[in-house]
Amino acid sequence: MQASQRISTMLGGGSDGWEVFARARQMIAEGTPVTELTIGEHDIRTAAPILQEMHRTALGGHTGYASISGIPALRDAIAERVSARTGVPTRRENVIITSGGQSALFAAHTAVLDPGDTALYIDPYYATYPGTVRGVSARPQAIKAHASEAFQPRSADIAAHAAEAKSLMINSPNNPTGVVYNRDTLNGIAQVCRTHDLWLISDEVYDTQIWEGMHISPRSLDGMAERTLVIGSMSKSHAMTGSRIGWVIAPEHIVTHLINLATHTTYGVPGFIQDAALFALRQGEAFETEIAEPFRRRRALAYEILKAQSVVGMIPNAGAMYMMLDIRATGLSGEAFAYALLDAHRIAVMPGESFGAAAAGHIRVAMTVDDAAFTTALNTLCNFAQKLVTNRAAAATS
Ligand code: PMP
Repeated sequence: MQASQRISTMLGGGSDGWEVFARARQMIAEGTPVTELTIGEHDIRTAAPILQEMHRTALGGHTGYASISGIPALRDAIAERVSARTGVPTRRENVIITSGGQSALFAAHTAVLDPGDTALYIDPYYATYPGTVRGVSARPQAIKAHASEAFQPRSADIAAHAAEAKSLMINSPNNPTGVVYNRDTLNGIAQVCRTHDLWLISDEVYDTQIWEGMHISPRSLDGMAERTLVIGSMSKSHAMTGSRIGWVIAPEHIVTHLINLATHTTYGVPGFIQDAALFALRQGEAFETEIAEPFRRRRALAYEILKAQSVVGMIPNAGAMYMMLDIRATGLSGEAFAYALLDAHRIAVMPGESFGAAAAGHIRVAMTVDDAAFTTALNTLCNFAQKLVTNRAAAATS
């Protein structure tokens, strides 16, 4: 018996890009210590008061089926938060609570695409994007952004594919690059969406991690609220990755369909998790700043280290917990460099190629180990790259 085409082709036939990560995890399982700068997860755990609230409300009885769309108080709190942060009037009816940003992405694409439709997204991209599109039987079409332009996508490149497309997905602050789209980029994107009648799916799960400039939600741009679905999550902003709670903000008629989808898939998110999320949101901005602070600090440390050498280049990152480093001077691909670094120094990073062709010759470094380990790892990485360049030059002249 064969699995469906839809599910068996979700990965597109190629690798899933996680081989270096898998090798690192295997080394750890075999007892070899590895500095992991791979996965986008904090080096702290969910704060105890949030877990205590989860415990309290679960013991208090909130363990039955919860409201499928999300408990009203949480939907209201998120609507209020979005209104305050973006200036776009947002009501409970614009919000559905989901099992993390991940299922929000899948739900959003299910809501706006029919089988065979083309869905655009920007390369480099968060690794699951093409699979999400294939998972709803649509056709993924990547639009390359360029390292030389700090990975801000060109609206003309998006427009060139827009006539055949139904949706565009963007992600700012960006995983894997740490780039935050500026107002010009977002105005250009909005213009293309309006002209070509595209749905915009805006993945904003890193919106509390801004190191420079500001986050602009494209839903706040002229004529965009009616065609934009925003993906949000508690994972990154509140260090709640394991709680699996996020949301979609969308026009009311789309949320109505999403509630119907949830009725047939997840049947909602556990009530005690939703109560804990509400409690976490009520801790306010100071708490979110505290969660983001280690990444801000490590980014500053990284800039100092990178400034002192000239072999490893850096795409200026204005947000998120990642840095994209340019290692093309070593002559290696991102993947070859990542394997070599892992073998030589037991430091695991993600090859840029895991996130699309546009990031070839780069590596993504997650700033997710403590400051001392991060500084040591980054210094080692730079020295390693320097050695590769020196050896390469020596080989060329011998
Ligand atoms: N979008 C992006 C860009 C991400 O990096 C992630 C997680 N790494 C997600 C969505 C999904 O996160 P979650 O399901 O934990 O909310």
